[in-house]
Amino acid sequence: MTEGPPKSDTARRASMAMQRARAVHDGWARVEPTERSACLGRMLRKIVLDRDEIVRTICSEAGKTRAEALSSDVLPTLEMLRYLERETARILEPRKAKTPLVFGRASSRVEYRPRGVVVVIAPWNNPFQLSLVPVAFALAAGNTVVLKPSPLARKTAALVGRLCQDAGLAQDALQVEDGGPELAQALIAERPDLVFFTGGPAGGRAVLQVAAKHLIPVILELGGKDPMIVLADADLERVEQAAVYGAFAHAGQHCVSTKRLLIEKPIYGALVDRIGNLTSSLAATGQWGQVVDERAMAVAAEQVREAVADGARLVVPDDLDRAGAEPTLVSDCSPSMRLVQEETFAPVLAVLPFETDAEAVEMANDSPFGLNASVWSSDAARADDVVGRLQTGNACVNNVLINIGNPHLPFGGVKTSGFGRYHGPEGLRAFCVETSVLASRSRRRTEPNWFPHDDNMAEITDELIELRYGEMSRWQRLTGWLRVGRKLTRRGKHL
Ligand code: NAD
Repeated sequence: MTEGPPKSDTARRASMAMQRARAVHDGWARVEPTERSACLGRMLRKIVLDRDEIVRTICSEAGKTRAEALSSDVLPTLEMLRYLERETARILEPRKAKTPLVFGRASSRVEYRPRGVVVVIAPWNNPFQLSLVPVAFALAAGNTVVLKPSPLARKTAALVGRLCQDAGLAQDALQVEDGGPELAQALIAERPDLVFFTGGPAGGRAVLQVAAKHLIPVILELGGKDPMIVLADADLERVEQAAVYGAFAHAGQHCVSTKRLLIEKPIYGALVDRIGNLTSSLAATGQWGQVVDERAMAVAAEQVREAVADGARLVVPDDLDRAGAEPTLVSDCSPSMRLVQEETFAPVLAVLPFETDAEAVEMANDSPFGLNASVWSSDAARADDVVGRLQTGNACVNNVLINIGNPHLPFGGVKTSGFGRYHGPEGLRAFCVETSVLASRSRRRTEPNWFPHDDNMAEITDELIELRYGEMSRWQRLTGWLRVGRKLTRRGKHL
């Protein structure tokens, strides 16, 4: 047997991690869902106790303020763990399904079984939540996990590993493997049973390519360019606070940060001024955090410079050289600008006017992305109508960002923002193989659809199709069923 070329260190490490994960998988999969979720409950309580250390680590790696780390990294994680602690057993209960009459006497059900080993590839921007939450969903579903965190968030990932140990998770049921894209790809080449990737579209495409070679299912949580649509009848005091929070919290480095502000014409000028004033005040406080990725900052600065050269107006800051490095508001943008079309992972908000609801929808949908969106109006029916026409995986009415933290709602994107879901029942079942079972209760020696496939069987099946799907009176249908029933009995006696 040929052994192939020698493995690199990275490939060897990936292979060992995968072997360890496989070795403990059966044991963890056999643990009852109630016990698995109890383990996640212990993790939750440990996080509450250790939160100071966790927050300090998040702040040092992701450039967050303490308030930001607590409210958008730690709190949503706790909420998700509580959800899994309480709901896992119920969601993974086998689900009864109906069995149509033509399938004979049988019962049907769907079982939710663990997939096996899940590779979680995580980004740096919400390093705690975006590592621990997919890991927790995967573990709750009975999988073992190899976590490949961002090289920018090593310490937070190490904490995630320690929390799992402290909660009593079996050795190797979660392994944290430090490394870059090569390690992520080497892990996928080891054929895990599912890959859960959170990051930019370029990384997502690369991961999908490697996974395609081995036909491994992938969930992709990618970037966004979230629109905020403000209708003229909205509560404008709430809108201005929300726009500034949505765009500039964590320096605009949430995947669901507000990036495009679409304002109905009659309120456009006044609202831009008010948001401009608030943006300037916020910039002076430093509460918006800091831009961590210098390349992303350079891209943002370039996008703003290009937009201004093409006729957009820099509202804040007053110096173009600081644009992208601190809260930046650019009004009078047009839909084709790179600042409006491409992802901007920095604190920059592009503003565009619209005249009708239909135009707002068209502008919002004119994007390669479809992650999150918000619609603002005091008329609930009008807001719902606009939401209903948006190409997006998630949406808020009269709020921003917060929907990603509701554990009962599945989360994920459309278009270049990715596919697949986590959170909510759909998100937990996404980490399972859904096995469908049909159990016959028939005591007959044979079934009508089995051999022999003779003229008599064709005639009965033909009549059955007419009876079940054809148009006829109730009386014709009743007598027809009796006739088919008699034919089936006669056939049964002959076979
Ligand atoms: P990134 O894509 O650079 O890295 C994410 C992870 O993928 C890291 O672990 C990295 O090492 C790995 N990776 C990168 N390139 C790879 C490749 N070619 N092959 C295999 N693995 C690769 O993203 P980032 O800078 O860490 O995070 C920011 C990006 O993540 C933004 O685009 C943001 O919108 C997106 N994001 C999306 C969500 C979501 O839920 N949809 C959440 C947070 C962040």
